[in-house]
Amino acid sequence: ELVNLNELYNYILDRFDMMLKTDTNDNKKAKKNYTIKRDFTRRELWVEIDTDKFMQVVDNIMNNAIKYSPDGGVVTCRLLETHNHVILSISDQGLGIPKKDVSHIFDRFFRVDKARSRAQGGTGLGLAISKEVIELHGGKIWVDSIEGKGSTFYISLPYEEYEGDLWDEN
Ligand code: ATP
Ligand code: MG
Repeated sequence: ELVNLNELYNYILDRFDMMLKTDTNDNKKAKKNYTIKRDFTRRELWVEIDTDKFMQVVDNIMNNAIKYSPDGGVVTCRLLETHNHVILSISDQGLGIPKKDVSHIFDRFFRVDKARSRAQGGTGLGLAISKEVIELHGGKIWVDSIEGKGSTFYISLPYEEYEGDLWDEN
């Protein structure tokens, strides 16, 4: 379906902001603090995507950004357009990914440093599934990372500027 990406991205991030406020007994102890910063273009970007699948992708990257960061980290979420793509990025101030591992990060079941990852829980499937979904949409996903400093995940999707109303449809 044709989706307003600014709205959808905001909606996804609102849920992460909300999670910080809900103090259930379950997550009280394990809860990690974080701040989400948003830097979005003000132009409305309409893209053809599968909303549920796309939400899964952003959820996973956001969960990773929080999971692999120390308490109190800032996660910066950007949305911008180039002449024929939209680009979403999610930057964290976390552990980062060692250079030798960067090329494997989207492989099934791959996890950096088994011991470190085991303590965090998870299967190592999140990014492999994310890559599949984004490629099904004709897009690309990649990462820039510096070990010990943080990571930025990028998603680009093909985009054709859509002029206003649907007046010229059919
Ligand atoms: P799952 O998502 O299935 O619950 P997971 O988070 O371990 O488990 P992926 O999301 O596929 O799996 O990530 C693969 C591995 O990449 C992680 O185990 C972690 O080692 C590394 N990784 C992913 N995102 C980050 C990040 N933002 N910072 C540092 N390391 C990361
Ligand atoms: Mg994950």
